[in-house]
Amino acid sequence: MTEVAHLVPYDEALSRYEPVIGIETHVELGTTTKMFCGCATTFGLEPNTSVCPVCLGLPGSLPVTNRAAIEYTIRIGLALNCTIATWCRFARKNYFYPDMPKDFQISQYDEPLCTDGWLDVVVEGQNFRIGIERVHLEEDTGKSLHIGGATGRIHGAEYSLVDYNRAGIPLVEVVTKPVAGTGALAPVVARAYVTELRDLLRALGVSDVRMEEGSLRSDVNTSLAPRGVAEWGTRTETKNVNSLRSVERAVRFEIERQAAVLDEGQKVVQETRHFHEDNGTTTPGRSKEEAQDYRYFPEPDLVPVAPEREWVDRIRASLPELPAARRIRLQAEWGLSDLDMSQLSNAGALDLVSETVAAGASAADARKWWMGELARHANETSADLATLPITPAQVARVSALIKAGTINDKLARQVLAAVLAGEGDPDEVVQARGLAVVSDDAALTEAVDAAIAANPDIAAKIRDGKTAAAGALVGAVMKATRGRADANRVRELIIQRLS
Ligand SMILES: [Zn+2]
Repeated sequence: MTEVAHLVPYDEALSRYEPVIGIETHVELGTTTKMFCGCATTFGLEPNTSVCPVCLGLPGSLPVTNRAAIEYTIRIGLALNCTIATWCRFARKNYFYPDMPKDFQISQYDEPLCTDGWLDVVVEGQNFRIGIERVHLEEDTGKSLHIGGATGRIHGAEYSLVDYNRAGIPLVEVVTKPVAGTGALAPVVARAYVTELRDLLRALGVSDVRMEEGSLRSDVNTSLAPRGVAEWGTRTETKNVNSLRSVERAVRFEIERQAAVLDEGQKVVQETRHFHEDNGTTTPGRSKEEAQDYRYFPEPDLVPVAPEREWVDRIRASLPELPAARRIRLQAEWGLSDLDMSQLSNAGALDLVSETVAAGASAADARKWWMGELARHANETSADLATLPITPAQVARVSALIKAGTINDKLARQVLAAVLAGEGDPDEVVQARGLAVVSDDAALTEAVDAAIAANPDIAAKIRDGKTAAAGALVGAVMKATRGRADANRVRELIIQRLS
């Protein structure tokens, strides 16, 4: 296997080659029981405690199809604009692997439940329609744990353990058609697609879509062809990429690496590759099996699946509002531009702003705080907005306190910082820190007089009619009151005293 020692810088690679991407996403369905038996699908149980003869593949055991898993898959297919098969079969995919107790996996091969759909994603104001080749249903494998190796991989491990709790959990695979014509945006489009798919699956309520727990994982295919050449290049498949950021990085790295391979006049090897989170690179896995290596044949232990049309229609009628439609509705309700909306969406702030508005804030205020002060804080602490220790209700309360004149914008920043620091609810912080605006004229006049006395030159200018100079005195009062004064009222009082 030839591995290039260098990469071609991204922009240079794109100037000579056109990328084509494709994404296969595995989603663990959130059914309460497994695909072909009654074992619980609960995450995090003691190893090998949620198993039975069926999911352990013991001789004589027979699978029974989980109706909820079929329904969930149809939901996904309909939401992805697919055609739902009127009749299809499961297939036996034969391969030997310790985490596959039956030594075959029940999957779908040439008769998938859902075919030929699409999902739109918007990147930098441009719409990309991602074709969906198929959505099929299969069972998950168990989980191997390699003990003693440095990286958790089998190489260098002293021994391995297998946990079959995950074996037989329903798994849906969503396969895109090849996506061409994205040019330099290919890595971002790949990420946007997985993000959109994740949000769609979450809205459908079919999976908890936790990438970090492996309930959603993507294999990312990338190929390059010289610009102007119609034929696509040989693709690689980067396996089990488990974060949105990694999806983008994996495509980017493969573009830079494959460009170097092609520049040297070599051929890209069709293979699976591993992505390394630590340095953003990929390394070769196994050379890619062909379908014939799996010796697929119709699963003889299961009856075919033939969803009644009335049932499919009922499922279609029960689909919730999908993310794209929700974005369009919210954008109109909130009166935001396309750019504002896509920024909000890309920052993962859509739900937060929505919940803040539901808690009583205006859309403009909610957006201002989440995309401003709170986004800055998230950035500084390398946290996701959604994981900040502040709730939409608390942000709405800060907004209400400003509206009521209790605090101003500047004090609001201090209140937010204190809430983030765990000092309690906004009202508690205002109380404990004495952050309420001083609007009582007697107290303000005292501060104004002190500022005038301390700055006789400026006071003289204002007396001469140069009211623009009042700003300096307002500043002095704000400083003396630690930002708690109402600046407009202070200005009025200064002019009053000096006219
Ligand atoms: Zn079982």
